[in-house]
Amino acid sequence: MFLEGKRALVTGSTSGIGLAIARALAREGASIVLNGFGDESEIAKLCEELGATHSGSDLTDVAQIEEMMAEAGGVDILVNNAGLQHVSPVEEFPVEKWDTIIALNLTAAFHTTRLSVPGMKEKGWGRIINTASAHSKAASPYKSAYISAKHGLAGFTKTIALELAEHGITANCISPGYVWTPLVENQIPDTMKARGMTREQVMNDVLLAKQPTKKFVQPEELGALAVFLCRDEAQNVNGANWSVDGGWTAE
Ligand code: NAD
Repeated sequence: MFLEGKRALVTGSTSGIGLAIARALAREGASIVLNGFGDESEIAKLCEELGATHSGSDLTDVAQIEEMMAEAGGVDILVNNAGLQHVSPVEEFPVEKWDTIIALNLTAAFHTTRLSVPGMKEKGWGRIINTASAHSKAASPYKSAYISAKHGLAGFTKTIALELAEHGITANCISPGYVWTPLVENQIPDTMKARGMTREQVMNDVLLAKQPTKKFVQPEELGALAVFLCRDEAQNVNGANWSVDGGWTAE
């Protein structure tokens, strides 16, 4: 229970990867602030399971981010994980989807970081973990907003890693390949449309084709990595963009 006494805020943790990271940090004793949308009774159950509190702030809205950070109090571990995807050819890409994806997948991490850093500096300890993506290193067609945001998040992470290095604070990206979560499941119909493919073709020829292991990443694998990044043994892992993609970006 090496994280007893530490508070972790995990954005987008009512589902998928964020929830797995929150569970893994809670198992090590961290007190958890969940964030994200969903059914109220399901979220209440999660809070009970993890002894967590929950903020329903919409992270595309700066005022709501500021409210969440004020309610959370000092955050020792900040996991910027909330994200959205939209699949469309660039000339048809809905402008409001572009704006939302950049706001959620990139700008929100700037706001939570700028509001967490003063407290971390005061304590001389902090961990900032950003869920980026294999798409922070490589592109695929029809995901212009997402890939722009994730490349931006990777650059942001390297910058703050340098700025904060002497304060006992590390900043790293976790970059998964395809993880079987609602985010991946929901993009299948649009990918079928954009590429003129069947569901099976999208699964095998688009998604798993990227991953040399031919396996989806499990959210728990990312939880385990987040725990490692919080350990003292990881104090010199800083500014890294850690791939968990079965070898996708090794090509
Ligand atoms: P998910 O859809 O299961 O979870 C997304 C979470 O974000 C949910 O808790 C949702 O409520 C929350 N959310 C959505 N809009 C929000 C908003 N406006 N404000 C606050 N919270 C909001 O998705 P996931 O697959 O677990 O994705 C989590 C992160 O992992 C994302 O940043 C995603 O880009 C990244 N990622 C996912 C995969 C994958 O294959 N699933 C691969 C690489 C990177």
